[in-house]
Amino acid sequence: MIDAAARLALESHLDDRIEFDAPLARHTSLRIGGPADAIATPADRDELAATLAICDAHSIPTTVLGAGFNVLIREGGIRGLVLRLKKLREVERRGQDLIAVEAGASHATITRFCVDHALSGLEFAAGIPGTLGGWLAMNAGIGVREMKDVVHEIDLLDRRGMALPTLPRDRLDFRYRALHGLEPGSILVAARLRVTPGDRARIREEIDRLLESRRATQPIDIPSCGSVFRNPPGDHAGRLIEAAGLKGLREGAAQISPVHANFIVNHGGATASDVLRLIDRARRAVADETGIVLETEVKLLGTPARTASFEEACGIAGGNAS
Ligand SMILES: Cc1cc2nc3c(=O)[nH]c(=O)nc-3n(C[C@H](O)[C@H](O)[C@H](O)COP(=O)(O)OP(=O)(O)OC[C@H]3O[C@@H](n4cnc5c(N)ncnc54)[C@H](O)[C@@H]3O)c2cc1C
Repeated sequence: MIDAAARLALESHLDDRIEFDAPLARHTSLRIGGPADAIATPADRDELAATLAICDAHSIPTTVLGAGFNVLIREGGIRGLVLRLKKLREVERRGQDLIAVEAGASHATITRFCVDHALSGLEFAAGIPGTLGGWLAMNAGIGVREMKDVVHEIDLLDRRGMALPTLPRDRLDFRYRALHGLEPGSILVAARLRVTPGDRARIREEIDRLLESRRATQPIDIPSCGSVFRNPPGDHAGRLIEAAGLKGLREGAAQISPVHANFIVNHGGATASDVLRLIDRARRAVADETGIVLETEVKLLGTPARTASFEEACGIAGGNAS
């Protein structure tokens, strides 16, 4: 998928910020995922733009990953280049009530900045693990508040690495755990978020309260990908799966969490196929009991396991896919 000329162009541009045929499991919270043809971690926005231009010129597909907290990557891994934006992590204050955040900034970095500067508004997101890019792409939130409530405007690059016009909030089509209407292949690179100057102790207290309630209700000490299913209108996926009697169900080393039935946890060595079998069993059981067909919230990425016959069919038997 990445031929010699493309590999040379990427290597000379990214130096040690690119790895070829690299495992993705360590970049996901579930600790599951086959290899990517390549994983790049651009140093800044310009390098990201130039990397996208190289991929476009060489017809290399690109996939952007945040911190991997809401993805399930299959055994065959991801063809083409996976982009990680963790070096784009600046957070800056813009006047009284805005902060400018780069897409790779983590939930911890953003939360620390808000506490240090006594800025209120993002307390709800402190316990939602990920990066700003993932928060926006998923419209991450908790019951009362979502990213759509705090976004002022966002910056994007298109698939060729060209800057797109900044999109103000009223041109963004946020839905439940989704952001629709972006140009296909575009990448969120930064956003300005609305905040309010507040009392640091109160902000800290609210964050602690929310984190405490998470600790009591979610399996946060074991690898998972957060909510597997979207909540159907008027109900909760976890309640429906529990009512169908599936809490604690195992497939290999994957298990429907005994703590929260909308979480699937990895006890060590689980495969994407184990998780997909649990997803299928939960979906069927809930549909049989209630007629409700659950939709997945977790993003399924990558291809199924590559078998010898698959490799032969692709003409890559015995060789390196890249
Ligand atoms: C223990 C636990 C608790 C959780 N609790 C919550 C919760 O309360 N509420 C909630 O909403 N979620 C929750 N989640 C899910 C997860 O934290 C969120 O979905 C978060 O937004 C994922 O961010 P990420 O950076 O890890 O994105 P990833 O999981 O890496 O990616 C998610 C999607 O976003 C896309 N994406 C990422 N960055 C960009 C970018 N820069 N440009 C374009 N697309 C991009 C990816 O391609 C992918 O499709 C939880 C997860 C865990 C493990």
